Amino acid sequence: MKLLHNLNPPQQEAVLHGEGPMLVLAGAGSGKTRVIVHRIAHLIHERGVPPWQILAVTFTNKAAGEMRERIQHMLGEGETPLVSTFHSTCARILRSDIKSLGYDSNFAIYDDKDCERLLKDCAAELNLDEKRYPVKLLGSAIDEFKNQGMSPFDVPADSPYQATLARAYRCYQERLKRCNAADFGDLLLLTVQLFEEHPEVLDKYLQRWRWILVDEYQDTNPVQYRLVQLLAGARQNLCVVGDDDQSIYGWRGADIRNILEFEKDFPGVKVVKLEQNYRSTKTILDGAWHVVQKNRGRKPKRLWTDNPEGERIVYRTLPNEWEEGRTVCREIERFLAEGGDLSEVAVFYRTNAQSRVIEEALVGAQIAHHMVGGVRFYARLEIKDILAYLKVLDNPSDDVAVKRIINTPPRGIGNTTVQKITDFANEKGLPFYDAMLEGAYGPLLPAAARGKVAAFVNELEGYKTLSEKLPLSELTAAVINDSGYYARLKMQRTDEAQERIDNLQELVTAMQTYESMPGEHGLADFLERVALVSDLEHEGEGKKSSATLMTLHSAKGLEFQLVFMIGMEEKLFPHVRALENPEQMEEERRLCYVGMTRAKKRLFLLNVRRRHIFGQEQMNAPARFIADIPRELLDSGDLWQRPEPRDFSSSSHNLASLFEDEIEPEFEDNEVRMVPDDEDDGIRVGMKVRHAQFGPGTIRKIEGEGDNQKVIVWFNSLGGPKKLLVRFAGLERA
Ligand code: ATP
Ligand code: MG
Repeated sequence: MKLLHNLNPPQQEAVLHGEGPMLVLAGAGSGKTRVIVHRIAHLIHERGVPPWQILAVTFTNKAAGEMRERIQHMLGEGETPLVSTFHSTCARILRSDIKSLGYDSNFAIYDDKDCERLLKDCAAELNLDEKRYPVKLLGSAIDEFKNQGMSPFDVPADSPYQATLARAYRCYQERLKRCNAADFGDLLLLTVQLFEEHPEVLDKYLQRWRWILVDEYQDTNPVQYRLVQLLAGARQNLCVVGDDDQSIYGWRGADIRNILEFEKDFPGVKVVKLEQNYRSTKTILDGAWHVVQKNRGRKPKRLWTDNPEGERIVYRTLPNEWEEGRTVCREIERFLAEGGDLSEVAVFYRTNAQSRVIEEALVGAQIAHHMVGGVRFYARLEIKDILAYLKVLDNPSDDVAVKRIINTPPRGIGNTTVQKITDFANEKGLPFYDAMLEGAYGPLLPAAARGKVAAFVNELEGYKTLSEKLPLSELTAAVINDSGYYARLKMQRTDEAQERIDNLQELVTAMQTYESMPGEHGLADFLERVALVSDLEHEGEGKKSSATLMTLHSAKGLEFQLVFMIGMEEKLFPHVRALENPEQMEEERRLCYVGMTRAKKRLFLLNVRRRHIFGQEQMNAPARFIADIPRELLDSGDLWQRPEPRDFSSSSHNLASLFEDEIEPEFEDNEVRMVPDDEDDGIRVGMKVRHAQFGPGTIRKIEGEGDNQKVIVWFNSLGGPKKLLVRFAGLERA
């Protein structure tokens, strides 16, 4: 039969398995997801199961979308089964049956902001000390309770602290219900509660979904596990697939025991092991196995593959992060020159803050790229907030920027006050900032509001004074600190807040790097540069094929021909938090395994000798995982033997050679003065030029015409773009 054609015997066995529970436990790239897709097609085509009796659950919307497509492709026209994430499955169930729990069926799903507002009210009602119990912390504690499947009454009050959390949870839950609203965690928790308290409702779903399939089972948390158990019912037509070596969401409440103890919970379960990997070369697969096999808490297993030996895994230590970015670009270009496609390229990093340098390098090299599961560096909330402060210092008439920061972090300046100032500004035709001065010192506002606005104005004036004395990086650090922005994040004590702090520190690094380069270092110039980088980045959008940037965590389930893992350094990866914690270290190791096994053909592991990150210079040892890969699998090159550049600024110059290599000989008569009006000698995008102060660069964009014609040039010496009026720039062809 055609369906089974492209499957090996154990895969066929899993696809053909009839009723009763089944666990497909297998390593990366062994065809687990493929088994799910084929099994669904088989159930429908060969067993005559109506599609509506099948429920397939995956981890992300992206994965669900891809699976749906593959199934449709196999089945052709006609009804398809429900392929969905846990959250959307539950939302669907609740929409139709939440009434039994006393909610209305048109209940609202609250996002983080809405939830925060409710929590704030609860904290006030319970008189909680904001320092000890910041709202964000309450939020993440409640989230964790929900992941564990605990209602407010299940939280053990074994310490006063815990008891307070439980009280906050109870209050919050009552308020949600009063608002007829559910948060994301509720979607799962309420569904479980619904099924447990109302067997007749559960029964309805048991009648409907008779075949349940779950992908990436290793990352289910306890409440998801309970849900799966309930939906499996007595029939237990449950097929879960997963890989204990790829469990990487421990910090989100996922529980690796779910998979390791599945056999106990579902007696008589059929276990299928897949041992052949179809994705990667022998070398990549071997390397990855050597890394993960050092973990203690794992079921021993080793994959094999019929794929060719392939190239060795390339390991390089570069002098600094700019060279790392440059290496990535150069290798991508080589891959493209060999006929490769950009959509087959991925760059993975451990934390989001690491994306900045790589984004800028790719923009500079004009390599189209997009980011999955993350926001581009300069578009991140905290970066935009702090840049807004700097924009106001540069140009107080920037109303949007002033309004963005007037109450960020909170200064008790409310909407009414902002509206009054806005009205006054409109009436008098003034910029908001000037109207604010009136608010601070004139009779416009009541005394209390006046005092707060005056304090804000003083604060800004203080920064203004600092800006005349301090270099940009120090000014920015001062703003982050003195505004209370940092303290507010620090107080939240959540992973998300820590990530935002890392990003802010990375912003300071960006400025330090900028200051070490030739040319002017003014605030205005930096802001312009940021605006230009963002502008050029948008150009790549919409292009069909582009390279993927993502954290290692988002890489699960995906595959690419060419993979880069950057920042393979102790403290970055493995993450600094894992260094003292053996359990977390095992998870970092699994994360490394996940990353490596995404690669089909070519894998680069990169690190640097000296990294400027989080606002400081670090010299970290190579990630311990590198040492676990047998030497014969590694191509360590001789790059590390190169003499180190004298200082950082000169090393950034090396970025230039990326472009210089490409200069075509026909342009060698570099005396030609550029005359924009001259059709033949006219400028064009991609042209190499030279500027008296900034040296060689590449024209990236042309705007306007005639005397007003401007060009955006990516200067190698700046590692970034600059906008110039062609008429005055005195550009020469390089
Ligand atoms: P991961 O653990 O990373 O999620 P997986 O076990 O789900 O991996 P799949 O993504 O299903 O693996 O398969 C990996 C690759 O191998 C895919 O490109 C798939 O099409 C291919 N593949 C799987 N089984 C076979 C087979 N029997 N013949 C040919 N190709 C196969
Ligand atoms: Mg998979």
